[in-house]
Amino acid sequence: MSAPENTTVPDEVRARHAELCRELDDHSYRYYLGKPIVSDAEYDRLMLELRSIEDRHPILVSQDSPTQKVGAPISVDFAEVEHLVRMESLGNAFDSEELSAWADRASAEVPVDAYLCELKIDGLAVDLVYERGRLIRAATRGDGRVGEDITLNVRTIGVVPEQLDESVRPAPELLEVRGEVFLPVEDFEELNRRIAVDGSHAPFANPRNAAAGSLRQKDPRVTATRPLSMIVHGVGAYTPAAGEETAFTSQSQAYALLGEWGLPLSDRYKVVATMDEVREYVAFYQEHRHDPAYEIDGIVVKVDDISLQRRLGSTSRAPRWAIAYKYPPEEVTTTLVDIKVGVGRTGRVTPYGVMEPVVVAGSEVEFATLHNAQEVVRKGVLIGDTVVLRKAGDVIPEIVGPVLDRRDGTEREFVMPERCPECGTELGQQKEGDVDLRCPNARSCPGQLRERVAFIAGRKALDIEALGYVAATALTQPLEPVEPALRDEGDLFDLTVEQLLPIRTHVLDPDTTEPKTDPKTGEPKVVSFFANMKGEPKKTVEKLFEQLEEAKDKPLWRVLVSLSIRHVGPRAAEDLARHFRSMDAIRAASEEELASVDGIGPTIARSIHEWFAVDWHAEIVRKWAAAGVRMEDEGQEPGSRVLEGVTVVVTGSLEGFTRDGAKEAVAECGGRATASVSKKTGFVVVGDAPGSKYDKAVKLGVPVLDEAGFRVLLEDGPEAAEKLRINPVEEAAEE
Ligand code: NAD
Repeated sequence: MSAPENTTVPDEVRARHAELCRELDDHSYRYYLGKPIVSDAEYDRLMLELRSIEDRHPILVSQDSPTQKVGAPISVDFAEVEHLVRMESLGNAFDSEELSAWADRASAEVPVDAYLCELKIDGLAVDLVYERGRLIRAATRGDGRVGEDITLNVRTIGVVPEQLDESVRPAPELLEVRGEVFLPVEDFEELNRRIAVDGSHAPFANPRNAAAGSLRQKDPRVTATRPLSMIVHGVGAYTPAAGEETAFTSQSQAYALLGEWGLPLSDRYKVVATMDEVREYVAFYQEHRHDPAYEIDGIVVKVDDISLQRRLGSTSRAPRWAIAYKYPPEEVTTTLVDIKVGVGRTGRVTPYGVMEPVVVAGSEVEFATLHNAQEVVRKGVLIGDTVVLRKAGDVIPEIVGPVLDRRDGTEREFVMPERCPECGTELGQQKEGDVDLRCPNARSCPGQLRERVAFIAGRKALDIEALGYVAATALTQPLEPVEPALRDEGDLFDLTVEQLLPIRTHVLDPDTTEPKTDPKTGEPKVVSFFANMKGEPKKTVEKLFEQLEEAKDKPLWRVLVSLSIRHVGPRAAEDLARHFRSMDAIRAASEEELASVDGIGPTIARSIHEWFAVDWHAEIVRKWAAAGVRMEDEGQEPGSRVLEGVTVVVTGSLEGFTRDGAKEAVAECGGRATASVSKKTGFVVVGDAPGSKYDKAVKLGVPVLDEAGFRVLLEDGPEAAEKLRINPVEEAAEE
């Protein structure tokens, strides 16, 4: 016989176990207050470690272990309420194998023939009790058995009915229904804007914390000012109305009933027969994670049949008949190692955070912009802080703020330099009151020139693949004694092979603009960028010249973008090119004429006017034209421009396009994709769960298209698409 377990647990493992239990309990408590100090990913990692210790040493498992219980101890701020039926947590799957393992375990016990898939809303679990149709109590999950009475606060949530709707069938004698309270993303952003202005509160790091903070207000009047919402996803205790036999045998049937009684349901859940379909659902929302109006952190899969749910039962903390598939976290914590400053192509000097590299939303991140010195102050971050880093969807990674409770006094303040980090020129504001500091040495600051040249080569400008960041550095910042091949970008199309061959350069990291070091010697890496070992041109040089030649024939808007005129990005450049058709016409236009172009406001107009007034700028255009760069658009650009002058709003999720993909498709056809529906909107394209924009389009009589109609719009233009509108023309409002 083997020795009893408890004698075999080494002291250090026992100590680590106790420490993890303490830490996890502490994190849970803070989390339920809406003030976590670690990210969910960090919490999940600690929980995994605890689980693995307990797997190896089952003797350590006690009722009190965070692996065995739900939620957090409840606070004394609210009265305690006992739930009628225990509220549970959910088991987690972090990848497809874990999801399959859950399904295999369930199917080995019972014959599962339907799964209900739904979104895992990142909010707070709330329990509602209705007696004979009237809301009598609302409570937090608490420890699953006992929660906090938040009835008054929940009554302020518009979508939660005070009285169940009995128009279809009578309300049950007793209904305990669970769901998630959340703050929609747009409302969260608005709330943060509002509290930034009135200074009533520090900004919330994310919608979940904001929802938790709003719901647990002692004064319900404060809760009432926070636009909370709710979606229900489960039933606890249930007694049908007297004399009624209304019952449900599946989760989806229960949802149908809850919907009839007027409870807020998701319109994105789906019942499927196979795990392959479950995986499709998981993959769809991984791609369309930001389509819903609220944040989600995964998918919940439930065995649909309730008798099977009962047979599968629960562990001490979670049902065996359901699982949460967690998506990669979009918010993590990491250390802010340093704050450095870089100079951009328009001279803006920007602080950026250098962090302990960390994986967020599936990709490794080490740097994040902090925009300007005020932003560093506003965010309240110090060098050395633990910070919350967030990367949601296609948005660039953002340092949200410091985790104050993790400060130990060694952190230090960032001081914005007074001189340009690249050329030493004193920094200044372009005009009084500007938040940005700029290096005024626009023409000769090697940093600005390098950034402009690299930008010219970028996809949104002249798209010169052979002119990457390192080549841009080599052309603008060669090591001595060679002079830069470019005094400014005006010389770009006049480069010669002879100029390039002697150039040696450090290799700069594009994110930090610091020289990369040779891992062997620790010295900065030096390369002969354009010449091979024998001192002859490298193959890439030939390519560079070929691509420079091709670039000369690019459409006017790309040339315009390449000039690095402030505020003139691809969209404004397209609008200008479409209107004026030539660089000469743009240069000759007055500020008023420029500002009157659709899409060009006074700021852009002034910026263009000011840009052309600078001699060396005008000289760039002259030199490029002399070198053969096309300065006018003759015919149509290749590709269809069927949406010229048409505004399109896309709402809800489309099968074949991401949100950004749909917008790009509109722009490629010459149209404008905008976010809000007005009378001027040409078309509203609706996918799954379109929401209020659809209603508005119908009200205003704007043609609404489904995805098939959208494809016709892109291919054949407005006239053909108009015939496929899904809202009848006569529905147009009189307004
Ligand atoms: P959970 O959040 O992983 O899953 C259970 C909860 O999901 C349920 O209580 C329910 O309210 C919610 N949910 C959302 N949509 C649902 C749906 N459609 N159907 C059913 N339930 C749905 O588990 P948990 O026990 O609440 O908390 C654990 C998780 O919370 C951790 O994995 C971590 O991500 C986070 N957490 C973080 C910290 C921190 O300090 N950062 C602390 C504690 C917990």
